[in-house]
Amino acid sequence: MEDALWPASAAVDADGVLRVGGLRVDALAAEFATPAYILDTDDFRARCRAWRSAFTDGDVYYAGKALLSRSIARWVAAEGLSLDVCTGGELGVAEAVGFPPERLLFHGNNKSIAELRRAVAYGVGRIVVDSFVEISRLAAVAAQAGVRQRVFVRVTPGVEAHTHHYVATGQEDQKFGFSLASGAAAEAIRRVLAASDHLELVGTHAHIGSQIFDTAGFGLAAHRMVGLLAVVRDAHGVELPELDLGGGLGIAYTGEDAPLDVADVADRLRTIVGKECAAAGLAVPRLAVEPGRAISGPSAITLYEVGTVKELPGLRTYVSVDGGMSDNIRTALYDARYAVRLVSRHSAAVPHVVTLVGKHCESGDVI
Ligand SMILES: *Cc1c(COP(=O)(O)O)cnc(C)c1O
Repeated sequence: MEDALWPASAAVDADGVLRVGGLRVDALAAEFATPAYILDTDDFRARCRAWRSAFTDGDVYYAGKALLSRSIARWVAAEGLSLDVCTGGELGVAEAVGFPPERLLFHGNNKSIAELRRAVAYGVGRIVVDSFVEISRLAAVAAQAGVRQRVFVRVTPGVEAHTHHYVATGQEDQKFGFSLASGAAAEAIRRVLAASDHLELVGTHAHIGSQIFDTAGFGLAAHRMVGLLAVVRDAHGVELPELDLGGGLGIAYTGEDAPLDVADVADRLRTIVGKECAAAGLAVPRLAVEPGRAISGPSAITLYEVGTVKELPGLRTYVSVDGGMSDNIRTALYDARYAVRLVSRHSAAVPHVVTLVGKHCESGDVI
C-alpha cells in the first residue's frame, strides 16, 4: 500500500480485506458500526517518537486540535511529548488524564476569562497571548491566583505560506497574533515585560499555517523570529530562552502529496536558527514545534459503509456512504482531497469513476 497515505500496519489480506493492526476492518465495522475512525496506535506512537528524536534538544507539542481523546493524551504524555490545546474542552481532556501541566501550551485568539482561570489554576506551562486585551486579562487572572504565569507572545511573521487560505496563518491580514511588521509584536512584548510581576515572558511563537510542503516558508519565519529576538535584546536587555516555530508540516492526503521528512525539517530549522543567532550574537533559544496532523493523520483512517448507488446516465454515478461532513468537514469546507479505497472485498466489477458522497442534506457533502 502507498506508505505515506495509510497507517504503517495497513495491509490487504488474502480475502481482499484491509487489516489495520492485524484486525479486519469488516470485523471492526461489525463490532463498532460505521462511520468509524480507526487509529493505528503503534503508528501514532512511532510518529511521536520520530518527532521526539528529531528535536531531542527542544520541545515537541502535539497539536491536540488534529485529533484528541483521553487515550491520545496519555500516549502523547508517555512518549515524552508536550501538548498544545486551544479550547477549554481540549484542556479538559488533558486535565482528565492528569497530563503534566508544565508540558501544556494553551493557544487561542479568544480564550475566555474562565478558560484563562482554569489554565492558570491547573498550572499550564505556557499560555500563548494573542491580543493586547488578553495580556491585561491574563495578568489580572495570574495576580488573583497569586502566580507568575509563563507566556509566549504569538507573532505574525508576514510569511505567505503556500497553502489554502483557510489554513494560512502567517500573513498580515488575519485573526491570530501580533504583526511583526506593524510593530504590534514588539509592543506586545513590551507590555508583557511591563507586567512581569504576574507574567514571565519565556519566548515567542509563530505558526505560519498547515499543509506546507516547502521548507522555505519555515526558514523565512525562523529568520524573522530570530530578528525579533535581537530587537527585544537591544530594546530591553533580555534574551528570550525559547522559540516556538509552530506546526504545519504537510501530509499526504492523496498520492500526489509528497511530505517532507521530519528529521530534514528539524536540521534545516536548527541550521537557520543557529546561523541567525550567531550573526546577531544571541544564545540559541530552545526550539519548540507543534506538529498535529503529521502525527495523527497518516496513522488514522475513516471507515464507512456504502449504502446506495445511483447511476445518472450520461452524468455520473453517486455512491453514498453512511457519514460525510459530520465526521469530516474538510472537503465541504475547503475542497480538501482524500484517497479512497474499497476495503472489504475484491471488486469483480470493472473499475470506473464514481462520485463518493456522504448522507447529509447538502450537495457539498462529498467524500
Ligand atoms: C493547527 C495548529 C497547529 C498544527 O497544525 P498541523 O498542520 O496539524 O501541524 C500547530 N500550532 C497551531 C497554533 C495551530 O493552530
